[in-house]
Amino acid sequence: MECLLAVVLATILTVRHSAWDRESASNAVLTIEDDYIKWVDFTVSYEALCQAYQWDVDTHGTEHEICWVELLAYTASRTGGSFGKDALKVMDKAAKALSEGEETIESLTEDLKYYAYYKEAYDAVLGGLVGEYREEKVDEAGNVGYEDRYGLKGYFPLARGFDYTHYDDFGAGRSYGYKRKHLGHDMMGLVGTPIMAVESGVVTALGWNQYGGWRIGISSFDGKRYYYYAHLRQNYPYAEGLEEGSVVTAGDVIGYMGHTGYSTKENVNNIEITHLHWGLQLIFDESQREGNNEIWVDVYALTRFLAKHTQPAVKVEGTKEWVRTGDIVDPAVEEYEAQHSGEVRTPVREDSLKGDEVVEEQQVTSESSES
Ligand SMILES: [Zn+2]
Repeated sequence: MECLLAVVLATILTVRHSAWDRESASNAVLTIEDDYIKWVDFTVSYEALCQAYQWDVDTHGTEHEICWVELLAYTASRTGGSFGKDALKVMDKAAKALSEGEETIESLTEDLKYYAYYKEAYDAVLGGLVGEYREEKVDEAGNVGYEDRYGLKGYFPLARGFDYTHYDDFGAGRSYGYKRKHLGHDMMGLVGTPIMAVESGVVTALGWNQYGGWRIGISSFDGKRYYYYAHLRQNYPYAEGLEEGSVVTAGDVIGYMGHTGYSTKENVNNIEITHLHWGLQLIFDESQREGNNEIWVDVYALTRFLAKHTQPAVKVEGTKEWVRTGDIVDPAVEEYEAQHSGEVRTPVREDSLKGDEVVEEQQVTSESSES
């Protein structure tokens, strides 16, 4: 079952409370205020993501399909957005009733005041990650074909097999430039680790930013999500041919891990620890694209969940490039390209790319840090 991306705007609710006041998250005051969502606290746990996803996949193609976003929204509207052990029980009970046809999502949620809010909020976060896609398969004779798949079509942001460490420090303080909160997720690893697009989309930002260093911004096709990948490698940050306007498929190599940033001067390694910073911004209204109204969500649990779907990559001999080993066809990309034929740019790989054209990066350690 494809989760419906279109959302019912009948009842739009707003959560009003301090952005990083986690204590109050579950007691958030919900008020009907305007015609778009003003704030989202994405508090869905790793366990809840896994459980809801399993119900979705297991019931796919059956008479009583369960949409994981709806199941999560139902659970949140029963628990006030908290996802502890009790919430998992609430979810399981509902999923059983749904899968056996005893209940429908409509009958379960008709009296739940905040269901519409959570449905729209979670659709905005997760709406592009699960669905139908086709995966490249090479048979024994070497023939390339595609097999239909249903499930997680979003990918983990690092290539398979590359070591990393991470922990949840969303909202922690940062002081470079001005006092602010950490609005993303850091994954520590080695310089040059291939970075993959989590979701398919259009490259809408690419270049130097004094905070993010070499960074890439990718907007989802529905415009609700903006993925931000930062601190990419000095001298060779991006996948060959990637530029603003490029269309990427989930799991494509888009760049390489590094530690650039914290400088108004370009191509400077001022970040102490090599890591990928990836962030997810939600946009319900244009006023939320930049400035004080930005909504960034904590993607720590989501990153752990995405580890279920990693993409291997291989090095292109004689270059600093890595490419994915197997392609997928994402219907969302096909749909976008059909609607924008003539204006879509797919990354072009130069055959002339040679390793000796690449300036070798010095492996910089913390001595260089000024942050
Ligand atoms: Zn970060």
